[in-house]
Amino acid sequence: MNNIKFLSLIFLLFSLVLIGCKESSRNNSQQQELQKQSLFAIENVNIITMTEENSIIENATVVIENKKIVSINKIIPNNVKIIDGTGKWLIPGLIDMHVHTNADLNFRENSPTQGATFFMDTQDVMTTYIANGVTTIFELGGRVEHFGQRNEITKGDVIGPRMAIAPMINGGDPNNGGRIVNTATDARQAVRIVKAEGYNFVKAYSQLNMESFTALVDEAEKQGLKVVGHIPDAFKGQTEKAFIPHFGLVAHAEEFSKQIRNQDKTKKEAQYFAQLAKENGTWLIPNLIAIVKIRDQVQSLDSIRSMKTLQYVHPLLKDKWLTSNNYNKHSSPDFLNYLDSLITFHKEIIIAFKDAGVPMVAGTDAGTSGIITGFSLHDELELLVDAGLTNKEALISATRLPATWLEIDDKIGTVEVGKFADLVLLDANPLNDINNTRKIFGVFVNGRWIDKIKIDKMLSDLAEWNTAMKDKYTWKKRREY
Ligand SMILES: [Zn+2]
Repeated sequence: MNNIKFLSLIFLLFSLVLIGCKESSRNNSQQQELQKQSLFAIENVNIITMTEENSIIENATVVIENKKIVSINKIIPNNVKIIDGTGKWLIPGLIDMHVHTNADLNFRENSPTQGATFFMDTQDVMTTYIANGVTTIFELGGRVEHFGQRNEITKGDVIGPRMAIAPMINGGDPNNGGRIVNTATDARQAVRIVKAEGYNFVKAYSQLNMESFTALVDEAEKQGLKVVGHIPDAFKGQTEKAFIPHFGLVAHAEEFSKQIRNQDKTKKEAQYFAQLAKENGTWLIPNLIAIVKIRDQVQSLDSIRSMKTLQYVHPLLKDKWLTSNNYNKHSSPDFLNYLDSLITFHKEIIIAFKDAGVPMVAGTDAGTSGIITGFSLHDELELLVDAGLTNKEALISATRLPATWLEIDDKIGTVEVGKFADLVLLDANPLNDINNTRKIFGVFVNGRWIDKIKIDKMLSDLAEWNTAMKDKYTWKKRREY
């Protein structure tokens, strides 16, 4: 080795050491900064634990470190950010068990290299969940774009909820939504493909025939996927045949009322359906808000125009709801009467299912016409209480029970040491008035503290963007995007 080469080598090694030092000092200060952002104590707060015992711990201290609840009523460590919880109430992060979150779309013809043509900012679609304390969602129109959104959230680029994702399997016409199967063999194959694609859940839809539905549910059990879904129309008049082992969760109370569409809907029918569900271990998402909102739109689109929260809806979607509203197009006194009869019958369903001891989980169909993501969960809680659940039961339906059904109850769903810090800090006690879930002081999302100031800023930024873009996006022109 000559001298020059030797000197170059020494220089290179020296530079590497220097870079290494710089890196590690940057890492140290980054770590300190991160620690400050990940170590919190909420002092003097009233905890509604939502555990089986449902204990309430008054004037407690909760310490959160590295995304988890590490202690309740123990010593507060140093270098911790203190949040004053005096007079406030801490509940687990809320879970919406039935959503349709907007994601990138292709509005044009397909070509081999064509991806999406219309893009949704992931933070924008997640902001309304977070602002409303909804820290977990169950996506029931799952597609590959939702995996992308979930990755952005997991990476920390987007503040958003945990996402469980179920893709839809349907039958009948190839143009019906979802993956179409019309035989038992195809249904089983579709379930295996869904599994291979990385889903943990599958959604069965209305146009499946009886043999496809039965095979789907059976194959899902073999593949370790849980089944949520509609009760296919094919089961009308023989609803009991749909209640086969491993049909885990019915997506709407309306699934039951559709089974007796032209019949009287009485307490007796509600009790019969409750018995079917109870015996089969099938849970229910009542989804009361969906029919109430549909009824409002059938009556008048003013019900949408007058919503204060409409400012948080993407202008394209808002334009669709107002200019291409299928519910409103089919408005008639008969339709309104029918929807009214559903609203009444669904209250009977709630009572019958509660009496039979069928677990119910809160879900809203958020993202569909007139139902605004995040905000809608509070509407649903209010309707559940109005229908006969206690405030406590309504809260359980949006916290512990959904976590149990999704099989993530070791991670979230209660306020307990060892659970992830998905929490909502409220200004008033929701056990006194369920509407107090709307009085949000701040939200912990996977250990990240989002206070009221930040929530308001996120919402106002979103509203500002939507307003600025309102003339740019119209439903009529969607194929041009
Ligand atoms: Zn839905």
